[in-house]
Amino acid sequence: MYPHLFQPITIGHITLKNRILMGSMHTGLEDQAQGFEKLALFYTERAREGLQLIVTGGFGVNEYALGMPEHAEFSTLCTPEQAARHRLITDAVHAEGCHILMQVLHVGRYDHGSGGVSPSSVLSKLSSRSSRELSAAQIEQIIADYVRCACLAREAGYDGVEVMGGEGYLINQFLAPLTNFRTDEWGGDAAGRSRFALRIVQGIRAAVPENFVISFRLSLMDLVEHGSHWKEVLDLARQLEAAGVDLFNTSVGWHEARIPTIAMMVPRAAFSWAAEQLKHAVSVPVAASNRINTPEVADDLIAQGHADMVAMARPFLADPAFVRKAQAGQNSAINTCIACNQSCLDRIFTRQQVSCLVNPRACREWEWPQEKAAAARKIAVLGAGPSGLACAREAADRGHKVTLFEPGIRIGGQFFLAQKVPGKQELGETLRYFEHEIQRLGIELRLNTTPDIDTLSGFDHVVVATGVTPRRSGIEGENSSKVVDYIEALRSPRFVGERVAIVGAGPLGFDMAELLTHHKADDGSVAAFDREWGIDPERELRGGIKASERADSPRQIWLLQRSKAAMGSGLPTTTGWIRRARLKNKSARMFNDVEYIHIDDNGLHLRIRGEQRCLSVDHIVVCAGQESHDPWSPRLLVHGIAHTVIGGARNAHKIDAARAIEEGAELGRKL
Ligand code: SF4
Repeated sequence: MYPHLFQPITIGHITLKNRILMGSMHTGLEDQAQGFEKLALFYTERAREGLQLIVTGGFGVNEYALGMPEHAEFSTLCTPEQAARHRLITDAVHAEGCHILMQVLHVGRYDHGSGGVSPSSVLSKLSSRSSRELSAAQIEQIIADYVRCACLAREAGYDGVEVMGGEGYLINQFLAPLTNFRTDEWGGDAAGRSRFALRIVQGIRAAVPENFVISFRLSLMDLVEHGSHWKEVLDLARQLEAAGVDLFNTSVGWHEARIPTIAMMVPRAAFSWAAEQLKHAVSVPVAASNRINTPEVADDLIAQGHADMVAMARPFLADPAFVRKAQAGQNSAINTCIACNQSCLDRIFTRQQVSCLVNPRACREWEWPQEKAAAARKIAVLGAGPSGLACAREAADRGHKVTLFEPGIRIGGQFFLAQKVPGKQELGETLRYFEHEIQRLGIELRLNTTPDIDTLSGFDHVVVATGVTPRRSGIEGENSSKVVDYIEALRSPRFVGERVAIVGAGPLGFDMAELLTHHKADDGSVAAFDREWGIDPERELRGGIKASERADSPRQIWLLQRSKAAMGSGLPTTTGWIRRARLKNKSARMFNDVEYIHIDDNGLHLRIRGEQRCLSVDHIVVCAGQESHDPWSPRLLVHGIAHTVIGGARNAHKIDAARAIEEGAELGRKL
């Protein structure tokens, strides 16, 4: 299967059996005292499954490079003593026949604490303090730090390094006029702004043997105003190749860019066309990245000549065995990364350890061994939503005999409905994976079935995963025919009128607004995405951006919340801003500090920041949260049947798929 993906490729002096690179991810384990053992296990599980090349998360080139002095002991590489620790990782990965590069990183002004350093003093959108301008002597010292770090990586047994030159970190800050106003030799024209990157690569190449790989993470489009121009990117790439780069691992967008690059609503492989143009300009291999999550997409873009390799990071959190399954053609067995960011990137931004929504075992391999249960038991799971599915899968995988009862006609519960929201189609991949696992593990799935208590008394343990029901609004007149709950609206959006008030602006309210403002012109294509977000496919403008187009909406929407908090402030960090921007672009009206008065034939009467008015709407969609639905526990208790309640049925407060799946899987592994 996938002949292009599984063709050998040579990078520098190493030859790989396939063209898949596990891209750099900071997992949070890098910052911990025992993190190297845990990282070794994390990487080894993936290497064992056929990966040929891994890039570690970024390690700081000096004590201040990551802006986390409290973690510098573990997350930087500045001394031989620190290098010795990395042997745990490199030896373990090499034992599986896989190669590994260490990413060398300086975050520059992306230092959330002190504001960091950069070529010029500039405030970043991600920091509250301006950065400090580097002196010429400090620049020379940092270049020396990069070289020392690369040499230590070699001592530690790595096959090479990846120089992080993209995503708005320090090297990128030198390259772009946005952050480099210097007039000395390190700034000014493109040659001056490129000098820092070139000197780093030249310095490393001079200090390491020829067979030590240098990969350069190159920003193809910064997606910020006053970013690099495409011609400058190409010139830089040619010079870097001459300086000794063996591989270009490409990236798109700075972290502060206001254009999504890896979220679920970004079309798959949306930026691979940009990698193709670089491929024609250099002779070393080019890897494409961003929203490549299936073997079909990966193989196709190599077949079409967009790139020589694919770099995927999050798909290896979701499924350590991606490579093996792809090579065997077992596509439906792959637990696909759905690009939700909920348990990976969102956690990085809140300084928590990373995991994965669809695979909560990720980065916890050390505490979550895959062992069979001491004795097989009969387990009944009530409810085939995310928590029930995860529990059934995990329990069956451990050897238990599992029966999954679902009163509905299909698996998925509200997760199934949520995939109707534009940009959330990837959720279907998770349900496809669970369907595969139900078959593979011999789980008895009984749809359309509510068991009686006698049936349940025949099981050793019953898991109640019956989920949630919509909470009522409590507004006077809520029984009006104008009022619908979010389940009804998700099922049949075509029956919702043209003027709609949405009560509740949490994740459900935003989903609903997205669904109801969706216009058929947004067909999910890369062209439509580029138009909506102002990406310049011709790359004639700096940063690859131009003015975005206002999107049409078939409905007029009022999105309302009682709380005085900023609209969408409860949404996840890495995707909340995207959802707010999309709705703004569709002229949705968003109001906080709302007091609902009543509903009548005229519409919704309310006070917005004290001012009374009536929204004359066709429908009021209630997205006021959810309540636990557990009709079973009292009866199970009375009959003395051992049981556990999980997910939304246990606690509906802020329930989401991440918690539901994690709770289900956690219970499954303990049964
Ligand atoms: Fe992918 Fe979501 Fe898992 Fe992150 S949490 S790896 S985005 S599925």
